[in-house]
Amino acid sequence: MTITDRKTPPMSATSKSARIVIIGAGLSGSLAAVALSRAGHQVSLIDKHKTYPKQFRVEKIAGRQVDLMRKLGILDAIAAEATPFRDILNVRAGSIVDRSHDPHFGILYEDIVRIARAQLPTSVDCIIDDVVDIQTGPQTQQVSLSSGGSVQADLIILATGMADSLRHKLGISRRIVAEKQSISFGFTLASKTKQAAAFQALTCYGAGISNRIDYLSLFPIGSLLRANLFTFLDHDDPWIRELRRDPVAVLFKSLPGLSDFVGEIEPIDKVQNWVMDLSVAENVDQNGVVLIGDAFQTSCPAAGTGVTRLLTDIDRLCNVLIPQWLETPGMEKEKIRNFYSDPVKQAMDIEAMQMAHYRRSLTVDRSLRWGFHRRQHFARRRIASWFDRTRTRQATASYRADAG
Ligand SMILES: Cc1cc2nc3c(=O)[nH]c(=O)nc-3n(C[C@H](O)[C@H](O)[C@H](O)COP(=O)(O)OP(=O)(O)OC[C@H]3O[C@@H](n4cnc5c(N)ncnc54)[C@H](O)[C@@H]3O)c2cc1C
Repeated sequence: MTITDRKTPPMSATSKSARIVIIGAGLSGSLAAVALSRAGHQVSLIDKHKTYPKQFRVEKIAGRQVDLMRKLGILDAIAAEATPFRDILNVRAGSIVDRSHDPHFGILYEDIVRIARAQLPTSVDCIIDDVVDIQTGPQTQQVSLSSGGSVQADLIILATGMADSLRHKLGISRRIVAEKQSISFGFTLASKTKQAAAFQALTCYGAGISNRIDYLSLFPIGSLLRANLFTFLDHDDPWIRELRRDPVAVLFKSLPGLSDFVGEIEPIDKVQNWVMDLSVAENVDQNGVVLIGDAFQTSCPAAGTGVTRLLTDIDRLCNVLIPQWLETPGMEKEKIRNFYSDPVKQAMDIEAMQMAHYRRSLTVDRSLRWGFHRRQHFARRRIASWFDRTRTRQATASYRADAG
């Protein structure tokens, strides 16, 4: 049953209670609720939206995210509705860099959240409401709802993404690490011809630093071709207006050689874009409340680490720390601090931040050092790919010789 179709009782000025109350049922909050309720904890999950709005966020699950989702017992449900692909053609300036072969799942964010919510056991009390206030303390926490009701709990998990108001009420600020660090674009394309595409998925890297494009990722969702374009443009660059007006013409002009790989394509929806500030929450060591996912730290979309971060948060918090915290009474800040100093969580947060800076430098840094690194990076990949192909050819030839 999902938070969408659950018969939520009309909110009145009632007071409810739960062991753990989770505010925000995006991916972080919904998965935390799944993990905790499956482990037998009494959970209330609150979100202001019955259905997650159509918003551009992560649209493919890959790499460590696949293993973490499997560990959290959510992968099969997502895989059942996603479009799987594994062969990716990577190109730059009109020629092939290499090919990668890893499991990926293409799926829109609103569908990922819908599926995550659908995994909630009926024991979870799902409340559709806007949380307007939070009172915290070493023993008991209380959240106030816009409808006048309230929920009391031992622990609050704040999974409100980039929304600021509840963090402000708690005196939690956001330290901006990099303002307007990246701009990402999402839109859908369709082939104008009946000819099948020569790739399952394609990554086209920016050919130089002048256009500030990191890469364009084209991948299937159902019968459509989804485009995620990651850039480090200034937010007021006129190029952005041009892209919105005529995405295909602007892509073909800015990414030389792309048209040779994709053939004739056309956009079938509007270009969505997102300007990302990299930020980390500060003053988080507080009684009774813990922040996860984007509520704690935002990630650069080009780095593709946001979901790995939030899954790591959930794994460490829900599977390791909360069971320990609930063994003794009270939810003092000394317990909460264990989460932010957890070595696995910290390593992932640092990695995500480093990867964000790396992608930006690789794309736009004009220094000699980065110019050298950029050339070396792609040259190394091309050489490794050449060795791979040669090894495969030799292995095939020797197999045929043995068989013949
Ligand atoms: C454009 C873009 C592309 C991205 N691409 C990638 C990618 O390729 N790979 C990757 O790994 N990551 C990517 N990310 C990052 C990833 O999408 C996010 O890290 C992830 O969606 C964060 O989920 P969340 O649950 O923390 O926040 P959200 O999904 O924002 O959920 C927050 C929830 O809190 C609710 N809420 C807020 N305030 C209140 C309140 N007061 N009362 C009740 N409810 C409230 C909201 O309604 C919402 O449902 C991308 C992000 C963006 C913006």
